Amino acid sequence: MKLYNTLTRKKEEFIPLQEGKVSMYVCGPTVYNLIHIGNARPMIVFDTARRYMEYKGYQVNYVSNFTDVDDKIIAKANQEGVSAEEISARYIEECKKDMEAMNVRPATVHPQATHEIQGMIDMIRTLIEKGYAYNVDGTVYFRTRKFAEYGKLSHKNLDDLRSGGRSLLVTGEDQKEDPLDFVLWKPKKEGEPSWPSPWSDGRPGWHIECSVMAKKYLGDEIDIHAGGEDLIFPHHENEIAQSECCNGVPFARYWLHNAFLNIDNRKMSKSLGNFFTVREIGEKYDLQVLRFFMLSAHYRSPLNFSAEIMESSKNALERILTAVDTLKGLEASAGQGELSEGEKARLEEMKAFRRKFEEAMDDDLNTADAIAAVFELVKFANTEASSRGSRAFAGAIKKEILELTEILGLKAERREEVLDEDIEKLIRERQEARKARDFARADAIRDELLSKGILLEDTREGVKWKRA
Ligand code: AMP
Ligand code: ZN
Repeated sequence: MKLYNTLTRKKEEFIPLQEGKVSMYVCGPTVYNLIHIGNARPMIVFDTARRYMEYKGYQVNYVSNFTDVDDKIIAKANQEGVSAEEISARYIEECKKDMEAMNVRPATVHPQATHEIQGMIDMIRTLIEKGYAYNVDGTVYFRTRKFAEYGKLSHKNLDDLRSGGRSLLVTGEDQKEDPLDFVLWKPKKEGEPSWPSPWSDGRPGWHIECSVMAKKYLGDEIDIHAGGEDLIFPHHENEIAQSECCNGVPFARYWLHNAFLNIDNRKMSKSLGNFFTVREIGEKYDLQVLRFFMLSAHYRSPLNFSAEIMESSKNALERILTAVDTLKGLEASAGQGELSEGEKARLEEMKAFRRKFEEAMDDDLNTADAIAAVFELVKFANTEASSRGSRAFAGAIKKEILELTEILGLKAERREEVLDEDIEKLIRERQEARKARDFARADAIRDELLSKGILLEDTREGVKWKRA
């Protein structure tokens, strides 16, 4: 399998550090609001990468953080008059709901920055001891000039950056030895959350969080590090500097970056008013449609979101669901049971679509071509399967469609329509199970409802439900 590596600017054969295993770190969202559809792009594409690697037999250790201490979180907390912790806890919960509705599987671990402060203090201390960091009045900076390889990921001209940076130096940062030096630890300001450290009561810089969480949950050297392309510089460049100077080994072997999602060919921004949360899209569409739309382009190509493209994505996905419906019907009703010799031969030919699918995915996760292979399979289904054929034949084609779409995280089986009264009945059963402290049963009912597209929410006024 080949992956495009931002570090080398080449497509490279993927060779994991340990045979059969993949360690992968994906930078997660800063949680101060509902996630927007731009944030959903890395979630969906790297979840699909994970699924495909698992399909190929790798055991994937997938770590994705929540940045839960940040200026924007603090600002929102002050605005609402609640703690920063309350804000981040709320939006982590909401983010997990959106992920579930987009069929993005939970990571092996979702670490939170504020739970890892000690690790950050330890790493900063090591960097100071090794001469890679310095403390000025309680603020600790990374000494970029000391790391000869600084800039290797973003391939930037450091001299240009330095001269640009000099004019950009903000007041308060003029204590830095070099314009490119960045903050590892900063002293608290009034009303901000803080932790004690050898340098000041304060909080970590953003970049050190990911270096520490990757080290703790995956090790000093990892296979894949991923995120949106805006993170290449300075975030990932700085992560490399911190991790490699602290640990003394190369940090990540493959750096993967998704391109940006635009809206109506413009950068998504709140001020332009062209800004959508995943939740808003979910009110209009099954979020599978959003997932399908994201995967219909290569992850390194810019992608444009528009109302029309969502409609065409919906229709395209519908064609797959309809083919599966038809095959299901044939499976139940076809006259013959067993495969005929002719059908066996046709099923051999059908294998070509899976080969195409794998070839596309092996070529730097080309989901666009993989989806094209699924549509060839759908066309095959529509022309080959009929009531004159056998049940086994319809069943085999259906299974093939379901397996390939599952790798993309798409559910090609139409959800059964659930009636309100059935939902209410299950909710009552769950309440009884909870009263009887049978939490396993209660959770099973919650999951059953979720698989039918019903989200439960335990509120102060009791249980509420809605369609996901
Ligand atoms: P943030 O919460 O801004 O740190 O972003 C979380 C993740 O979403 C990062 O990997 C970003 O690169 C990614 N991201 C943010 N906006 C977009 C966008 N418009 N298109 C694609 N990815 C984005
Ligand atoms: Zn990060």
